Amino acid sequence: MKKPKTTNRFCPSCKKKTEHKIKLLATGVKRGTLRRGSLIRAKQRNAMPGMGNKGKFGSKPAIKKWKRKTKNTKRNVFIYTCKECKKAHQSKKGLRASKVILE
Ligand SMILES: [Zn+2]
Repeated sequence: MKKPKTTNRFCPSCKKKTEHKIKLLATGVKRGTLRRGSLIRAKQRNAMPGMGNKGKFGSKPAIKKWKRKTKNTKRNVFIYTCKECKKAHQSKKGLRASKVILE
């Protein structure tokens, strides 16, 4: 879905409609990336085999992972920054979409 970079919105601190800049909220740090048996830990200790089938550490995920592709969309949260007072507000409900392009 395409969305404009700026929009007119009500600013609670200015108490009037002003121009806002839209920014997509970035997803946070992935949890459990350095857990025991994780791929990143294996990469750090150079446990990856150099030749042949890489098995668990290969590029293709385990069958269990790609079999359950149930969720195709996620809720995108936008941050609206007022251009006059430079305060930021969040959209309350967000928007369900597979991909959001700000233009
Ligand atoms: Zn404002």
